[in-house]
Amino acid sequence: MREEEGGVRMKGLTEEQERLFETVFHSILKEDFPHHRWDVSRFLYAGKQVISGRDDREFKRQARLFFSENRIRWVRYEAHLAYWGGPEPDPYGDDEEENPEPDYWEMADLLTHRIVMAYMNAGKRQKYEQEADTFPFWCLRVINDGRAYPDCIEESQTARHYTDPYWQSKKLPCARLFCRCFITRRERQE
Ligand SMILES: [Zn+2]
Repeated sequence: MREEEGGVRMKGLTEEQERLFETVFHSILKEDFPHHRWDVSRFLYAGKQVISGRDDREFKRQARLFFSENRIRWVRYEAHLAYWGGPEPDPYGDDEEENPEPDYWEMADLLTHRIVMAYMNAGKRQKYEQEADTFPFWCLRVINDGRAYPDCIEESQTARHYTDPYWQSKKLPCARLFCRCFITRRERQE
């Protein structure tokens, strides 16, 4: 770790990678938690540890704290629970149990996953944009292990020119949590 231009640089990351991570990080937070203030410095440092290949425990710990201390309602997480069926309701629970504590560790896991995926995809996309003259057709790819979302699978059927409106508005990861989509590219549409 060394000090540079007032910020703490992370060993193993270039300045460009750090900048990209910060951009991705802020855009996810702004989109998913527009009404909350973050202690961004703690998160950024822990996040850079994750993307530079160190472990993600500190980041998850910070994320869990953020969720539990602020009792955050994460709309995307609620949609995730609804999609996968959510936790089993307790048939003997009384009224006070009607709103059990969310699983803050699971939320922290999913946020970590989302940010790491966003960072990896953003880096790839930058490279693809630079080399778009050679490989102008991009295709969404899913990891087809039975846990891919049907809408992601549907979108992955077509290669589209990178200037297509689809790619202009497409954000990765997709809307749902635990999306593992990534982009591939080719010379021709085929
Ligand atoms: Zn997806």
